[in-house]
Amino acid sequence: TKAGATLAVSGLTVSYGKAVRALREVSLEVPEGTVTAVLGANGAGKTTLLRALSGTLSFHRGAIEAGTITLGGRTLSGLRPAGVVAAGVVQVPEGRRVFGRLTVEENLRAGALGARGRPGGDAARDRVMELFPVLGERARQRAGLLSGGEQQMLAMGRALMARPSVLLLDEPTLGLAPLMAERIGETVAEINRQGTAVLLIEQNAALALRLATTAHVLEVGEVTLSGPADELAASDEVRRRYLGVG
Ligand code: ATP
Repeated sequence: TKAGATLAVSGLTVSYGKAVRALREVSLEVPEGTVTAVLGANGAGKTTLLRALSGTLSFHRGAIEAGTITLGGRTLSGLRPAGVVAAGVVQVPEGRRVFGRLTVEENLRAGALGARGRPGGDAARDRVMELFPVLGERARQRAGLLSGGEQQMLAMGRALMARPSVLLLDEPTLGLAPLMAERIGETVAEINRQGTAVLLIEQNAALALRLATTAHVLEVGEVTLSGPADELAASDEVRRRYLGVG
């Protein structure tokens, strides 16, 4: 079955044209049921990693030069974005990018299309409404009228409608007030408790390390540090560079 599948990135090298090598031999895993975090400064290659995972690299003139991406042993690299979603790996894009002119309800229905007739649509909807009651209250409002935090919730809800086994989160707390960022963090933890694995890309290293089981540090396209999140949170290097202490 799909649940039980580890998302594995192995030796991934990605370039944009001839000039820019954005990732170099990146290897990491998102085991079933875990939260895995990737930390890194601006330009480290975090977004590129997510583009490679979601099959959208070619839209940005990027290409995988070497390496593999697999889910439960099945190769994902080379699939189109819809194929990746159908396989169970669904991205919540940075900046949220909900369909502003569509209603909340219509956005959620658009997300469900990704599941391609797999059963369980009603359960997915119930789950989203339980996680984000505000989306039920605002079902008929245009998504563009929601607050930033509510749009993040809608983007996450839309992704969950596709019933992912792995959810890819790109900076989910970016630009949100601290209280809203905390709420989003709590929701990520709850989504994970319900059995969905999460790959979390976050500038907010403190939040990411609190939520994650395992974390990786990406620097100029390479993984330079990997380990249990609590060990990384205690390391001098991470504290100085990403947590702003010491
Ligand atoms: P940020 O947090 O600022 O989004 P990031 O860690 O996500 O940074 P990427 O956006 O993946 O980093 O960028 C990695 C490198 O690839 C950078 O040097 C960037 O300039 C380059 N890059 C990203 N997209 C393209 C593109 N479409 N064409 C050429 N170079 C690109």
